Amino acid sequence: MIPTEMDAWVVTRPGPIASRPLRPVRVPVPSPGPGEVLVRVEACAVCRTDLHLAEGDLRPRRPRTTPGHEAVGRVVAAGPGAGRLAPGTRVGAAWLRSTCGHCRYCLRGAENLCPDSTYTGWDADGGYAEYLTVPEDFAYPLPGDTPAEKLAPLLCAGIIGYRALLRGDLPPGGRLGIYGFGASAHLTAQIAIAQGATVHVLTRSARARELALDLGAASAGDAADAPPEPLDSAILFAPVGELVPVALAALDRGGTLAVAGIHLSDIPALTYQRHLFQERTLRSVTANTRADGHAYLELAALHPPRVTTVPYPLAEADRALADLAADRVEGAAVLTLPSS
Ligand SMILES: [Zn+2]
Ligand SMILES: [Zn+2]
Repeated sequence: MIPTEMDAWVVTRPGPIASRPLRPVRVPVPSPGPGEVLVRVEACAVCRTDLHLAEGDLRPRRPRTTPGHEAVGRVVAAGPGAGRLAPGTRVGAAWLRSTCGHCRYCLRGAENLCPDSTYTGWDADGGYAEYLTVPEDFAYPLPGDTPAEKLAPLLCAGIIGYRALLRGDLPPGGRLGIYGFGASAHLTAQIAIAQGATVHVLTRSARARELALDLGAASAGDAADAPPEPLDSAILFAPVGELVPVALAALDRGGTLAVAGIHLSDIPALTYQRHLFQERTLRSVTANTRADGHAYLELAALHPPRVTTVPYPLAEADRALADLAADRVEGAAVLTLPSS
């Protein structure tokens, strides 16, 4: 039985997390539109992008939107034209919600750059709720037997981290620097280590440094420190522009720095000789394609990562975001809902 109303959170007026931009509401359970399925949420991970949306670093695209784009749940209904995913199928709803399918970017396999793309929890209501709708073509089938709490962080933290690793052009057996060590970084480090990379983690959090070493990082130092050896590749996960020159200076000749976040504070002036010459490359990472998502989730199914999670009931989503804002979360914060 699908109820008519549900609990959800909406962003009312974006602002500092202390001003409570997120409010709990009772709203109608959405009905799936053409090509969409309705999903009963079992878990939704909390991403830094949710914080950027709540605090207004990313401008709202529609009023009173429910955030959350790492939602795991079961299909409970299908809209017109949908039905490939049977009721009861476990799926994930991730950040990329739709693309146009016919622009120059979509046609060349770069749908992450589609100018008409839409995003879960930004253009449409997301997973900080008991139910959400997702276009069937953008839902990822997920294993039914893994705890939902452990799958949810894979949907953005995992997928985006995977794309950042690809964008970082890490050579086989190379040396990778990871700046910032939250949910995405801790999953990305595990892929890189499994692929034979030497991983150096640079973060201001002492507990995150401990977790990094525990997961197999070769070293863990403060974000401002130089790694113990030059890097072939680096990924900046911390949304801190001041770290761009720091990470560029840590690159070896020919190295690449990929900036993984959707939002970054301003980058200070760079010095050509010190930061870019010798063919060092600075690049961004913009969302992901569905191909990235499927490739990463297949990899994660073959080699399940250790996913460090901190569960919160749906009713405490605001506390989860406040903890994330204050760097009090080790691994990924995940909203968990009763599974039946
Ligand atoms: Zn995200
Ligand atoms: Zn397109």
